[in-house]
Amino acid sequence: MMIRLDKYLADMGLGTRQEVKKKIRKGMVLVNQETIKSPDCKIREGVDLVSVEGRIISYVAYEYYMLNKPAGVVSATEDSRNQTVVDLLQTKRRKDLFPVGRLDKDTEGLLLITNDGGLAHRLLAPRRHVDKTYYAEIQGCVTKEDVRLFREGIDIGTDGREELTMPAILELITSGEESKVRLTIQEGKYHQVKRMFEALGKEVTYLKRERMGPLTLDENLKTGEYRQLTDEELEGLK
Ligand code: URA
Repeated sequence: MMIRLDKYLADMGLGTRQEVKKKIRKGMVLVNQETIKSPDCKIREGVDLVSVEGRIISYVAYEYYMLNKPAGVVSATEDSRNQTVVDLLQTKRRKDLFPVGRLDKDTEGLLLITNDGGLAHRLLAPRRHVDKTYYAEIQGCVTKEDVRLFREGIDIGTDGREELTMPAILELITSGEESKVRLTIQEGKYHQVKRMFEALGKEVTYLKRERMGPLTLDENLKTGEYRQLTDEELEGLK
């Protein structure tokens, strides 16, 4: 891939496009050991050696992270009041990372963060029906009858308008005044899991995503921790 020198440096977090242009014009940037002062110089990714003040800057086109999202952090790229999931990634190289889909502020668990828009689009496309599995704690007794209802579809519509969910697999882990369940849904409607239980008069008190399509949350990641996807995980998603 060929890429303009100013974009190359801006993508790698060396400043805004304007800031890196200034650095280039000041002669601070070398390409293959030669000072290059034109921001539109074309760089061959993986071939040309770019350095800024002696530091070699290698180009990363895409980054893929698995985050165990903690509660209290929002699934956004920027937020004036709250910490975002992207803020948690200390080792990121790219500035254009975003979460693939959303988890509520109080939901924990698996979140994929990338700058690969094509992959995100494919995973989120409603027609793809990518399975998502959640562990949930519920205020109220979840019953075998609920398992049947979830399999048939739950009406989570508001204002008298029907909005039927696709068949979902509900597994009871423990059932009592408070219940623990595992739920697999094929869609990603707004607050879907909470609304499904709410429709049956039950409240989700804790929610954690464990799986999204072929991607399973790494058990070694504590809440707030993240790691890059392995090659196998990435292959599985493509
Ligand atoms: N369903 C919800 O209600 N909340 C989430 O964060 C994810 C799924």
